[in-house]
Amino acid sequence: MDKVYKKDPMDRNIVTIFKGDDIDEFKEGVSDMIKYYKKLLIKKDDKYYLRKGTLLYHGTTNYPFIGGSQSTGNRAAMTFFGLDMEIAVWYIYEMIMNQKHYTARIIKSKITGEKLLERNGYLYVFKLKEDIPTEIIEKIYQNPKGTKVCKNKRLTCIHPQVSYRGDSFNEEVGTKIHTEVTLFMETYKDSLELIRSYLIDGEKLHKNHKDIEYDVRDSIIREYNEPVKRDDKVNYEEFNRIFSDNFVCEYCDFRGSFDIVLEHEKTCSFRRKGSSKKNNKRSKRNNIMNFLDFLKDKKKKKKKNTKRKKRKNTMRNKTRRNKRKNTKRKNTKKR
Ligand SMILES: [Zn+2]
Repeated sequence: MDKVYKKDPMDRNIVTIFKGDDIDEFKEGVSDMIKYYKKLLIKKDDKYYLRKGTLLYHGTTNYPFIGGSQSTGNRAAMTFFGLDMEIAVWYIYEMIMNQKHYTARIIKSKITGEKLLERNGYLYVFKLKEDIPTEIIEKIYQNPKGTKVCKNKRLTCIHPQVSYRGDSFNEEVGTKIHTEVTLFMETYKDSLELIRSYLIDGEKLHKNHKDIEYDVRDSIIREYNEPVKRDDKVNYEEFNRIFSDNFVCEYCDFRGSFDIVLEHEKTCSFRRKGSSKKNNKRSKRNNIMNFLDFLKDKKKKKKKNTKRKKRKNTMRNKTRRNKRKNTKRKNTKKR
């Protein structure tokens, strides 16, 4: 499973959507992964089980472990685990980089100097105390959050998944195919034993996020068993210094330094909701023309920098992302 994929599996076209297929790039790799699951899992009476002793990894910026949805803090929601450590650790990096979208928090930190931004994360390692039943989800585009069997609190799901090296799919770096397991803690908490917690260095992840072969174990600072979370948040300046000054518009995918993004937000075409008098007078046609201009603009930017490309699909899986006002951002992985 060492092949590197540089396409976002959510970039599906009308044909693959209609057929319910993955995009061609992923078909072979995903099919190999499914075959691997069928060997890895135990089969009893035509049902698959994750084996007792299996390790499950959970990456987050939260401590102690709460489980559930990381974006909403709802403990009763589905919890995501990596069957491999890599996807769980890169998810921590994704959460850290996601903070670039939290305009209000950034402004507050910038003005007051308050340490409001996470620079590190935590990796939790769980061991299965018994065999637990699981359903194989055979497509990489399928989101367990939108899949009936996975939403059943008594069931668990195993499925192929990509990792993001940043706040969105990183086409420059790409991804390997990883494996995710979803379950509900209220059902399975007694089947899981937390065996280790590690403090993970966000800066190391940032420095190495372009190296697809980077061994994520090198990002472990140390084992962490304190009763409370480490007080190591940073302010805007420090965040900037560590994670670069590349920020993102609250309404679209425009990127740049924080000040440039803030300036852009004032006139962002996607912002036009609380219509001012000026806007009311505008004819529909004008709005359409503006939108077309905006798209043209976007295209130009895309050519310059493919990383700016935004994701198009709603069905994306992981959970946890902050809810953006803009519909475009709804299409990111949700956990
Ligand atoms: Zn914008």
